[in-house]
Amino acid sequence: MGTTEYSNEDAIPRKIVHIDMDAFYASVEQRDDPSLRGKPVVVAWRGSRSVVCAASYEARQFGVRSAMPALRAQRLCPDAIFVAPDFARYKAVSRSVRDILHRHSDLIEPLSLDEAYLDVTENKSGLATATLVAKTIRGQIREELLLTASAGVAPNKFLAKIASDWRKPDGLFVIQPSEVNVFLAPLPIGRVPGVGKVTESRLKEIGATTVGRLQCIDQSLLQARFGRYGRRLYDLARGIDHNPVVANRPTKSISAEDTLECDVSLSETDGWIRQMAQKVWDASQKEARVARTVVLKLKTSDFAILTRSFTAPAPPNTCEQLIKIALSLRDRIEPNESQRFRLVGVGLSNFTEAKQPDAPLFD
Ligand SMILES: [Mg+2]
Repeated sequence: MGTTEYSNEDAIPRKIVHIDMDAFYASVEQRDDPSLRGKPVVVAWRGSRSVVCAASYEARQFGVRSAMPALRAQRLCPDAIFVAPDFARYKAVSRSVRDILHRHSDLIEPLSLDEAYLDVTENKSGLATATLVAKTIRGQIREELLLTASAGVAPNKFLAKIASDWRKPDGLFVIQPSEVNVFLAPLPIGRVPGVGKVTESRLKEIGATTVGRLQCIDQSLLQARFGRYGRRLYDLARGIDHNPVVANRPTKSISAEDTLECDVSLSETDGWIRQMAQKVWDASQKEARVARTVVLKLKTSDFAILTRSFTAPAPPNTCEQLIKIALSLRDRIEPNESQRFRLVGVGLSNFTEAKQPDAPLFD
């Protein structure tokens, strides 16, 4: 107990920092509009299908969470102030956070607008420890951007991610290499990143209620039950994660598709196209870059796949534009009265850097 294992003896212990902005979109709204401070703020679009993009800590006290239907949030917290998301502003703030991170390391892997891993095994700022780097970053974010971030410091990504959540909000938690097992053993299995509800209950079935209990389970049993992920669970239980921080891993495409309950004609695909376009649009708003190519995918009742794509001279910049393009792609499919469709998908690809707001019109 108390030592970290490395499968490769030459492997240098890494120093990883995970930075996670607190209630990011909601905090930006509260920062920019003082009348929202101290109040339950829910960032979500209006509409019956809308989901919560972010909730301030005041709203979370009522049980409001991200990804929850907006209507449910309204029921839980009738006094909540609903604010429409402004992703252009969040992206700009995210860029400023990224600039701060880059003062310390160029090995940065963003996970979303408000989260990133940094490998600070060697840091640019010359600070003595990873903990000091994390402290400094938190201080710079607070002073320069008037926002709070939580940070986790650990020997790998897996542990750093758990650590940043440990003292949230506005917290810092450090897992030293010598403390890994003491920290991990009592951890409820559901706290392991990547273990969702289903995996959690399947692990509990074999007695793995905590990480410590998971350590007692044979690798062969885990592999038999969970396939390749079983091997990963075996490692994670021991605090082992060799995944490196990968800088600039750009998203290649985003898509949403749905198999319909019953097959429909081409003209009846309307609602589904709109719905999938909305989903893809929401997901794309979390990207720092913008997509120029829209793809429509339809699967016929006899499983033939038809795709049509369109690369816009300028990326679609509203959901309505995206829907319009997706619907126009459908017009490029030969109408056939007898043909039925069982799946509808909409995708975005060909991501490119978003133009900075102050970029010249012609460059
Ligand atoms: Mg966050």
